[in-house]
Amino acid sequence: MTVDTELRLSLPLPYAPIREGLFQVDPPTLLGSTCAVCRTSTFPARDFCPGCLADGPRQNCPLARHGSVFTYTVVYQAPGGRPTPYVLGYVDLDDNVRVLAQLDVPVDRVSIGMRVRLVLREVGKSHGVSVVGYAFAPDADSKEVKQ
Ligand SMILES: [Zn+2]
Repeated sequence: MTVDTELRLSLPLPYAPIREGLFQVDPPTLLGSTCAVCRTSTFPARDFCPGCLADGPRQNCPLARHGSVFTYTVVYQAPGGRPTPYVLGYVDLDDNVRVLAQLDVPVDRVSIGMRVRLVLREVGKSHGVSVVGYAFAPDADSKEVKQ
């Protein structure tokens, strides 16, 4: 049906999230928090608000799955035999939350302002279980209306 459905079905089984509470799988969505006082949203979820410094009540919230590359860098050295080069960047989600993530975009094709979408994928293995994390890939449907 949708690209997101295809991505969900491509996750290896069994798998575990790189960290609990960062995202949901169905549909693939990052989970942030929204300040009950000033409505500032953050990722990952926080116990305080960077917008108004309020402590306390927050609402966990699913974040937009699409956004634009705010800025990026190309990484040429990485620990643990991780393949290089790769692109690391900040993505401004369509609901105004900025997320640091790997960009699954060829080094010679990435650009500031590029439309991207969330993808979940294996980032490693632990005790025979695939560890799943998040990244952003080029958005095939760049005509999506901003929220
Ligand atoms: Zn706030």
